[in-house]
Amino acid sequence: MMGIASLNPSYERTVMNFDDTPQEAAFRAEVRAWIAVNAPKQYEEELKKASLGRTQLKGANILEVAKAWQKKKADAGWACLHWPKEYGGRGATPIERVIWQQEEGAFGKLSAMFIIGWCQLFSEPAGGSDVAGLRTRAERKGDDWIINGQKIWTSGAHYSDYGILLTRTDPNVPKHKGLTMFFLDMKSPGVEIKPIKQANGQSEFNEVYFTDVKIPDAQRLGAVNDGWNVSLTTLMNERMSIGAGVATGFPELFEFCNNLMLEDGPAIDDRSVRSKLAGWAVKASGLKYTSMRAISALSKGERPGPENSIGKLVAGSMVQDVAAYALDLQGAAGVLSGPEDAEAAGKFQAMLLRAPGTRVEGGTDEIMRNIIAERVLGLPGDIRVDKDVPFNKIPTRGRG
Ligand SMILES: Cc1cc2nc3c(=O)[nH]c(=O)nc-3n(C[C@H](O)[C@H](O)[C@H](O)COP(=O)(O)OP(=O)(O)OC[C@H]3O[C@@H](n4cnc5c(N)ncnc54)[C@H](O)[C@@H]3O)c2cc1C
Repeated sequence: MMGIASLNPSYERTVMNFDDTPQEAAFRAEVRAWIAVNAPKQYEEELKKASLGRTQLKGANILEVAKAWQKKKADAGWACLHWPKEYGGRGATPIERVIWQQEEGAFGKLSAMFIIGWCQLFSEPAGGSDVAGLRTRAERKGDDWIINGQKIWTSGAHYSDYGILLTRTDPNVPKHKGLTMFFLDMKSPGVEIKPIKQANGQSEFNEVYFTDVKIPDAQRLGAVNDGWNVSLTTLMNERMSIGAGVATGFPELFEFCNNLMLEDGPAIDDRSVRSKLAGWAVKASGLKYTSMRAISALSKGERPGPENSIGKLVAGSMVQDVAAYALDLQGAAGVLSGPEDAEAAGKFQAMLLRAPGTRVEGGTDEIMRNIIAERVLGLPGDIRVDKDVPFNKIPTRGRG
């Protein structure tokens, strides 16, 4: 295919250049050399196939493999790239972090469980999209806080040593203004973790119950009642951690169609397959460059913008569509889900089952659309009738 620059020479001058600078190229070479020597190569092929939702390894506990890889990186100063050097990091720029992610490739799937560092105890049965509506209470008692309540959908609570916990400390003020954040030892007395079984058979997240759990005031993050701002900073950093890797399912589908034989010949020669692939290729490129634009803004010291919402919104539904199409192409065999029996080792079945979760976690499609409508398009804000009402005056069925 002809490149845009060769179609119109005058356009060439304004085209964005994504090549490494000499400094970035040197950094990439250093990263590549270290990974070549140190990465757990024996799992590479399996990790490459482990696409979205399939996070198990045959004959090895993925958590142990991931911990060993993380430790190796930490010992060599590659674990927390953006942290200052004096705290064990490397003081890396956002672009250097992206280069690391690109070079780490399939091994990056091992780091996925450490992306947020510790589990995030935010959502509750009555506070998901509206997380500021949460009810878990923290009451001051001397130098401690006593926690009672329940969290839900807490990813990784079952293997995390620590969690960050958003609580209500003042119910007499509007909901965003009475929250406080803490970190806690997940083995603290009074913490009960119950895994939730998912449709794909895995248990990645949990219900977490708190009964008179004691947290020292020294473990408070930020000022009392300023937890909303602390949680926004946390979520913003989480988005930054996601970096360039917006999964779309397209590379997997392309490879699959290249190898699949339909009744009348190779799938890749079929006009309707090619038309579908072309549409998704365009979308995948749009996502890639939108993400690169965000990274470029970060490297200039700007804050992450609503581009991240666009990426998640488009990629989440695209993965679902791509997986459903791959299963259609498999015909009746599409219902087989065991990795041993299913085409492409069950990759698309796993993808299809995981995709709805992707569309909900970190903010649902509707919430992403609200953000885009309000912050990108400047449309009128969502109706928020409880915005200025003290939390304990908001009428609910569950509170007397
Ligand atoms: C895989 C996965 C991992 C997760 N990990 C964590 C975690 O580690 N820690 C954590 O705290 N939480 C986690 N969550 C929870 C997640 O953040 C919430 O599920 C999400 O914010 C939605 O909240 P909810 O489930 O209560 O749905 P609700 O908020 O009840 O939403 C129900 C429906 O109403 C719609 N809706 C809600 N408000 C609006 C509105 N204002 N405008 C239009 N539509 C609206 C939603 O889009 C949705 O369709 C995880 C969720 C998933 C799926």
